[in-house]
Amino acid sequence: MFTELLGLPAAKELDRKTAELVEKTVAKGILPTLAIVRVGRAADTDAYLSSALKKCTKVGIAVREFCFEDSVSQEELTETILEINENDAIHGCLLLLPLPKRMDERAVKNALVPRKDVDGMTEGALGGIFTGSNTGFMPCTSEACLRILDYYGMDITGKNAVVIGRSLVIGKPLAMELLNRNATVTICHSKTVDLDKIVRRADYVFSAVGKRGVYKPSAFKEGQIVIDVGVNDNGEGGICGDIEYDTVREIVAAATPVPRGVGSVTTSVLASHVAEAAARNVYIK
Ligand code: NAP
Repeated sequence: MFTELLGLPAAKELDRKTAELVEKTVAKGILPTLAIVRVGRAADTDAYLSSALKKCTKVGIAVREFCFEDSVSQEELTETILEINENDAIHGCLLLLPLPKRMDERAVKNALVPRKDVDGMTEGALGGIFTGSNTGFMPCTSEACLRILDYYGMDITGKNAVVIGRSLVIGKPLAMELLNRNATVTICHSKTVDLDKIVRRADYVFSAVGKRGVYKPSAFKEGQIVIDVGVNDNGEGGICGDIEYDTVREIVAAATPVPRGVGSVTTSVLASHVAEAAARNVYIK
């Protein structure tokens, strides 16, 4: 029997826990607060911004927006991030990407202190995933995949997990955390030879490619769990994932749809990180 791994129930459970943590933190005199830093106005950052705002409001987190024109200098932007680092009333910071091409994006991201990096974009936070130290947080989308596994009671210990995609936002941190959870992990990318053969060997498939038509239906087999992170234009004014969902659902044991899968959990993870970052200040855990 096929199970559709919807994101919404996982998101709701996480939101409930976050709202509880926010309540405890507020009772100790601290209002969890997220700073959102944004340069210019791109349509996709607009969507992420409004969904982050909505989620934070729902669980009781305050949001402060720092919006800049496209013409802002790298120095001014960096200065704002340094001020956020020093501001004890702000517990997390989300820097909306991409930044204008003329800026050194890596330098701007790394100006943020890892403990306030609630979307795992600094090298300090990413390093923490590799070393197991608790200095920062995972990138929200990669953690959303794990939250779905947890909500549906899936234990990946000893299983073959194949992650397709090796970006710092999704593929690499996700693969590392799956390894931390004792999966046997294979990471694939655009130069991987015999991708379908490798995918077919997997118990768990995590696709973070951003392209349709990468896999043949024969890459999938009975019993597999498929987590599709991809967001692609479906050619009809909507979005779809990397996987041909309607075909693959006839083969595998469970899969996330797109939309209504991983993407539905991402802002809930973001809110949970802000609440945790604030709770660390008052030693609630
Ligand atoms: P990215 O930086 O472009 O990385 C894509 C990865 O896919 C790269 O590692 C690339 O390999 C690999 N790849 C490309 N073509 C391939 C092929 N034919 N076979 C195997 N691997 C291939 O993208 P990203 O930022 O990680 O995002 C991945 C997807 O997730 C996108 O669709 C994005 O829109 C989506 N996304 C979803 C959410 C959400 O909330 N659901 C959030 C963020 C992103 P190389 O390294 O060799 O180039």
